[in-house]
Amino acid sequence: MFFTVNNNTWQVCFVNPGDPQLQRSDGTYTLGVTDNNLKTVFMCNDLSSQMIDKVLCHELTHVHAMEYGYSIPIETEEIVADFISLFGRSIVTVADELIYQLLGNNTIRYCA
Ligand SMILES: [Zn+2]
Repeated sequence: MFFTVNNNTWQVCFVNPGDPQLQRSDGTYTLGVTDNNLKTVFMCNDLSSQMIDKVLCHELTHVHAMEYGYSIPIETEEIVADFISLFGRSIVTVADELIYQLLGNNTIRYCA
């Protein structure tokens, strides 16, 4: 699966649990990894739908930070990525609803 952020093409690659692509530098395994060199988000292929959503949103936060040059301490970026994975969709949905109420049919013009 391919997607584009800031005019760069990325892919999502699902791998088995324990795949080396899911291994951190400290040797532990995780559920998702964002590799800026390969422009690839590696995801464990053994996740529930809810966890796919959470992990994918978390990793996409890393992709956006990398693509838009947000250089912040990794501990902070992890907190932001977790927050976005939990509440990002709700924030955007509420914002879309409010913008539509404010602008009605002019929403597209405002967002363009
Ligand atoms: Zn992370």
